[in-house]
Amino acid sequence: MSSELDSLYQEIILDHYKNPHHQGLRDPFEAEVHHVNPTCGDEITLRVHLVDGAEGPVVQDVSYDSVGCSISQASTSVMTDLVIGKPLDEALSVHEEFLTLMQGKGKVEPDEDVLEDGIAFAGVAKFPARIKCALLAWMAWKDATTQTLEARDG
Ligand code: ZN
Repeated sequence: MSSELDSLYQEIILDHYKNPHHQGLRDPFEAEVHHVNPTCGDEITLRVHLVDGAEGPVVQDVSYDSVGCSISQASTSVMTDLVIGKPLDEALSVHEEFLTLMQGKGKVEPDEDVLEDGIAFAGVAKFPARIKCALLAWMAWKDATTQTLEARDG
């Protein structure tokens, strides 16, 4: 990876860290989860609100309250940008794509069309200790979404 690309990525992460999108806990919601990343001290409380669309559930809102390092905070902001307003199927495939990027040891080429600002975390994938920071919000979202779907189906 070129150093220009590295600094561009750092700029994107810093920007989301300073100005996090969709921050705060909002109503209504179907599930609320609390996840921690003990190795770094990152914590997040996250709520999911799904509504029924013509083709299935739609991610109407994801709201959160979080503390932690710049990577965890920026990743949370980027994640909400990527899933809010999307059909759930599509949001879940973005989740898969981000997971693949983070587990790629820095060797997976990120798809900007799918991941948008999420590509900035490509460099983080090279540092195993930081991967959990970047994935914290995504795992919390998946957990809350699963709980919401189970409650609906139950
Ligand atoms: Zn962290």
